[in-house]
Amino acid sequence: MTLPRPISTGSLIGGQWVEAQSEIDVINPATGGVIATVSNASIDDCREAVRAADRARASWSATAPRVRGEILRRTYELMIAEHEALAQLITLEMGKVITDARAEVTYAAEFFRWFSEEAVRIDGDYRRAPGGANWLLVTRQPVGVSLLATPWNFPAAMATRKIGPALAAGCTVVLKPAHDTPLTALAIADILVRAGAPDGVVNVVVADPPGPAVEAMLDSGLVRKLSFTGSTRVGSLLLQHAATKIINCSMELGGNAPLIVCSDADVDVAVDGAMLAKMRNGGAACTAANRFYVHSSVMEEFTEKFVARMSSLVLGDGLSPTTTLGPLVSHAQQQRVASLVDGAVARGAKVLCGGSSVTTPAFGFQATVLGGVDATDPMLAEEIFGPVAPLVEFDDEAEMLRLANDVDHGLVSYVFTKDVGKGMRLAEALETGMVGLNRGLVSDPAAPFGGVKQSGLGREGGHDGLLEFLETKYVAGNW
Ligand code: NAD
Repeated sequence: MTLPRPISTGSLIGGQWVEAQSEIDVINPATGGVIATVSNASIDDCREAVRAADRARASWSATAPRVRGEILRRTYELMIAEHEALAQLITLEMGKVITDARAEVTYAAEFFRWFSEEAVRIDGDYRRAPGGANWLLVTRQPVGVSLLATPWNFPAAMATRKIGPALAAGCTVVLKPAHDTPLTALAIADILVRAGAPDGVVNVVVADPPGPAVEAMLDSGLVRKLSFTGSTRVGSLLLQHAATKIINCSMELGGNAPLIVCSDADVDVAVDGAMLAKMRNGGAACTAANRFYVHSSVMEEFTEKFVARMSSLVLGDGLSPTTTLGPLVSHAQQQRVASLVDGAVARGAKVLCGGSSVTTPAFGFQATVLGGVDATDPMLAEEIFGPVAPLVEFDDEAEMLRLANDVDHGLVSYVFTKDVGKGMRLAEALETGMVGLNRGLVSDPAAPFGGVKQSGLGREGGHDGLLEFLETKYVAGNW
């Protein structure tokens, strides 16, 4: 099949595209067919990628911040110039609807623009010690070789959200994208090279199985930073592994977002927000609304309007202009979502729309609303990662807040109320790293994205995202 742009399918190591002995098939979730094969990097390839990053480290960290920023800025411009081809590539390998893929390319490119501006804003401090005897000089230095591991659900943005700040800070990187969706990452690597990233500054390896490859790189003794986005299960394993070499870790892990519709919410605003919070990426987002707590006084109106919107979605191939909901990424994910829905229905939930898998597109699942879900239903403890919205009715705000916080995750929550004071009090009390107040979307390259509890450690985006790739050095001096 012809891809929307040429892709170098080898590993990128030290500026060279290196072919491997074995290959990985990339599958189009809309058809189940193979669209490309890419090199399956060997353990030796992975170790060599880390060595290449280490060789490039000194000169890249010594490169003027303005020069690093200009390379990132050119990367942004090249991504925008290739906007449509990149969007099509994302849809082909991941399945999301093309409008979502276009939005992702814009969002992903913005990380390069934002961090091109941040590269020149690495600050320090210079003060007299309180005792007056000496000076305190504080500088920031790049952490060093950074291993970046990313998931399949945002093949472009999860990579650029790490590469942008790492390069701005003066770190060299090895990117290991999910092997389900490697093509977009390889395309972005090619763009970075064309934008002027020197050999070895950006390396990419795709590996299946990923575990041994990532562990070999962490064990190399050369990696000083692990920036991971993915499931809480794998994040926890990698934190344990990184502990043996005390590697600096940033973790963007799973979510289980509550979406709260208060009695005084503007229901139309809440429905718009719910559609965005639930259905962006077909529900396959860490930020996806996963548990809908709706006040009894507005439940009927909210349900009627929300079900109408969900029922109107057209499930199909993400590339078709009439499609508004794409397939899930794999057969396994389709089966997982189906079993979550079947379990909730067996326990008494009502299917208000959707409820089933389909075979066209291959890994499709209908937009589904479940009513009458009990507040203690086990489904509410799971990250659904699909187009399914369980509705739970509440009367007492304090009890709703307790339920909203009674989960292991804490990435994001959404609150809908016309009373901004109440909204701010709920935002304070919700145990999540981010809150959408009368808004179904929080992601912004200029803002610190991240979670608390088992949703992760550290932040990406904003100025905080840059700090994750910097170490503080302090010099005590007399002069
Ligand atoms: P995943 O944890 O299975 O995989 C993520 C990355 O880790 C991939 O590169 C994968 O190849 C690699 N990996 C898998 N097993 C590994 C192992 N044993 N050792 C080393 N590396 C391994 O996650 P996924 O299924 O690709 O993505 C979905 C998850 O990502 C969801 O839980 C979602 O919430 C989360 N996510 C979080 C954010 C965030 O910013 N918090 C953003 C997007 C996705």
